[in-house]
Amino acid sequence: MGNSSRRELTEVGSLEDLDDSLPRPRVAVSPRPRVSDPCVSDLRVLLWDIDGTLIRTARAGAFKDYTIPMLEEVFGTAGRLPEMKVSGMTDLQIIAEALKDEGFTNEHILERIDQLRDRYMEAMRKATGNGEEFFEVLPGVRETLQAVANHPRYHSALLTGNIEPAAHLKMELVGLSEFFTLPGAFGDESHDRRDLPALAADRIRDSLQLELEPEQFIVIGDTPNDIECARHFGARALAVGTGRLYSRDDILACKPDAFLSDLSDVNRVMETLAGL
Ligand SMILES: [Mg+2]
Repeated sequence: MGNSSRRELTEVGSLEDLDDSLPRPRVAVSPRPRVSDPCVSDLRVLLWDIDGTLIRTARAGAFKDYTIPMLEEVFGTAGRLPEMKVSGMTDLQIIAEALKDEGFTNEHILERIDQLRDRYMEAMRKATGNGEEFFEVLPGVRETLQAVANHPRYHSALLTGNIEPAAHLKMELVGLSEFFTLPGAFGDESHDRRDLPALAADRIRDSLQLELEPEQFIVIGDTPNDIECARHFGARALAVGTGRLYSRDDILACKPDAFLSDLSDVNRVMETLAGL
């Protein structure tokens, strides 16, 4: 692949010969395998949401057990968080929304991001560390992750509103970490979930050393925000009906590329993914 890229680079001459007003052919400057390679173009990267898709809290709203004390400790108040419904939002967005009536801006929040992460993880470890089951894996998830891990067409990564250490701790607590060795994108990176697929895709292209097109990424999630962030990037969206906040009709109104009420039928999941 590197050789063919170099050959094409020679054919178009040096980079200085290219007219800047024209889009530069990516292959001329990239040593990576091209998407036109039949094997590469068939690959799909599954970008998994966590809450409502892979796992959920055993008790509705249990995430507030650790997010409310964390906010109170860092900002002296949890603002509107106790009454908020937060599915599909990034953690930064949740914090901004909770605190906006208290006079805190995005900048105030970002200034304290390191302290926030530390307190967040401390509060989460405390809330989840008493031996009782805090998170449960949703039906068929483990089997589906194993099936896609065994299939050469797929890679899996996390794309979640959770701050990164919280995402990893959740996967560790439910024993799913082994399926997510590729880099992903996380809720401490943006207030806007729509920013996350591009961040994840760049990291994954670098990690795999492959030039993958946006439509080779499939966002799998349970909320309209998951579908919207897929659209924004040009990825496919597979919606699941396992979230607590949105009905099947709410989700279908956002026109995902595919919808499954849950992941319990692994053959059906694999057939659905094969069509995306
Ligand atoms: Mg979710």
